[in-house]
Amino acid sequence: MANEECLFCHIAAMEVPADIVFEDDVVIAFRDITPKAPVHILLIPRVHITSAASLNDANGPMLGRLFAVAAQLARDEGIAKSGFRLTTNSGPGAGQSVPHLHFHMMGGRQMGWPPG
Ligand code: AMP
Repeated sequence: MANEECLFCHIAAMEVPADIVFEDDVVIAFRDITPKAPVHILLIPRVHITSAASLNDANGPMLGRLFAVAAQLARDEGIAKSGFRLTTNSGPGAGQSVPHLHFHMMGGRQMGWPPG
């Protein structure tokens, strides 16, 4: 179910332009508008889920698909061997700014740990 006030739902519906690198009936992936790494792709489910805090067992197939797409994109983007980070921010304390579940896939540079 789409949320009319959700930016990423509008991207999924092609109502807001984005640099989409993959889409199917479950997952959409597009380049982050302000990339924090040479490769910075956001992967989202088509269905509106606010954050990782709302996930449950029924979301398992969607998450499996999303992670499989991420791995394929990492290979396609040439960062599978050098390394990449796949992360999600959930809630204000983690810095989530768009309330639609999304995973950042970042690679192409050395990552620090722990993140800030
Ligand atoms: P987060 O802060 O974890 O919620 O991540 C949201 C991400 O969405 C940020 O990295 C933003 O740069 C990115 N973003 C915001 N608006 C857009 C947009 N229209 N197209 C692509 N990425 C966006």
